[in-house]
Amino acid sequence: MWERAIVIGGGFAGKLAAKALSSYFQQVNILEADREYKDPVPRKRIPQGYQPHVLLKSGEEAIEKLFPQFTDELMKNGSIGSNFTRDLKWHHFGFWKDRFTGDLNMVQQSRPMLEWHLQKRVDRVSNITTRYETMVKQLIVNRKQNKVLGVLVKSFKTGMEEELYADLVVDASGFGSKSIDWLKTFGVEVKEEKVWIQLFYATRLYRLKKQERLDWTNLLISPSFPENPIGASIQTIEENRFSVTISGYANDHAPQTNEEFFAYAQSLPVSDFVNFLTQAEPISDIKIYKIPNQVRRRFDLARQIPEGFLVIGDAHCRFDPLFGQGISVAAMEALELQSCLHQTKRLDIGFTRRFHKNIAKQIATPWEMAITEAFRHPKIKGKNSFLLPFKHWYTKRLYQASAHDPFIYITLARVMNLIRTPLHLFHPKVVTSIVFGWQKKNV
Ligand SMILES: Cc1cc2nc3c(=O)[nH]c(=O)nc-3n(C[C@H](O)[C@H](O)[C@H](O)COP(=O)(O)OP(=O)(O)OC[C@H]3O[C@@H](n4cnc5c(N)ncnc54)[C@H](O)[C@@H]3O)c2cc1C
Repeated sequence: MWERAIVIGGGFAGKLAAKALSSYFQQVNILEADREYKDPVPRKRIPQGYQPHVLLKSGEEAIEKLFPQFTDELMKNGSIGSNFTRDLKWHHFGFWKDRFTGDLNMVQQSRPMLEWHLQKRVDRVSNITTRYETMVKQLIVNRKQNKVLGVLVKSFKTGMEEELYADLVVDASGFGSKSIDWLKTFGVEVKEEKVWIQLFYATRLYRLKKQERLDWTNLLISPSFPENPIGASIQTIEENRFSVTISGYANDHAPQTNEEFFAYAQSLPVSDFVNFLTQAEPISDIKIYKIPNQVRRRFDLARQIPEGFLVIGDAHCRFDPLFGQGISVAAMEALELQSCLHQTKRLDIGFTRRFHKNIAKQIATPWEMAITEAFRHPKIKGKNSFLLPFKHWYTKRLYQASAHDPFIYITLARVMNLIRTPLHLFHPKVVTSIVFGWQKKNV
């Protein structure tokens, strides 16, 4: 075992990375700027905590590998179980999907509940400590050997600065990470790929006025560019609550008032969302979160990143949240970290580069999926490949064909959950149906 690893940030990526590290280091220290939280409520430094957070199947499976029986614990404590193809009522590109019981059983809850349960599991690992109210301000690097030695921190409790030393430092400080600036001071340039989306999420919690049984657990009205640019979703969460969200791209105005929220609901192509609002009452304010860009930071392509310094989670790549990928990708990266540590005896020859190259492969698919969809919006532009028109044509047909073809729907659902590669969308049965069959079934 190596002596000590430091993890900057105790969000999802930080907690999961810490667990992966705990089998290979005597001590793992998570340094977290936020205060300790004793209840499953949104945290100050996680403003997106009010927004709905889906846990994809890939993320659930990765978390289970790191923390066995985690899903059971969630379910015992009030999470909601749902079957993806049966309990999601989903409208997209003009069609409702036919619903049926498939093999994708999901677990859902508010983000604070998910994170709080994970923190409780982290607290039970004897060689992981979480030091709260501790802000990392800079890396300490041995320039001659190009090796990270530790970090400089400031304690919000004492106001004191301190140097902490470690064999490995993992930056999991989220999208606001300062890694690129820190590395610049050591002469290392990291390029960013950005796709402007200017997306808003406007979310409000509701409860049903009367205890009625709905025939769905989640309702999703996906934006279908260019005709219906507004998206809407309702997610059932613990304690008989519903997380109700409206989203819009490219600088659309975010609804601030009850009237504006309702007006957006009425503008949707189907009435189910508005019907729900009339049956329910709000139990929170409208919380708005804006995401200007999707950003992929190319640590995998940068030269001379100090050995022993790794970047994961949103600090590495922030996706369009509409695809619900962030936590799951962070969990898959933590598993990759475990596997890289398992295969190495040394942290100083190429370990950093190898890890970043490996997770770049994991990031590539969700990144491609998210930016390809965004480019459908007439105002969202970027460096497009010549294949883009084909991808848009094929995936639109795929979405439409999946409405009435269970094989296509379950294949699509598995790819969206990142448990199958997009190559499965080119299965002969899928291609045949898309090219020859879908129109007949959908008229
Ligand atoms: C509106 C919205 C909806 C989303 N929906 C989904 C969804 O449905 N499903 C999904 O999987 N993902 C979703 N995401 C993405 C998800 O929120 C992120 O991918 C996830 O939080 C990333 O985890 P992280 O640990 O990398 O970063 P964060 O969760 O941001 O955690 C970073 C942590 O680092 C700490 N920190 C920051 N700087 C420092 C420092 N210098 N020193 C010490 N500590 C520091 C912060 O306090 C924080 O605790 C959504 C995001 C948004 C904005």
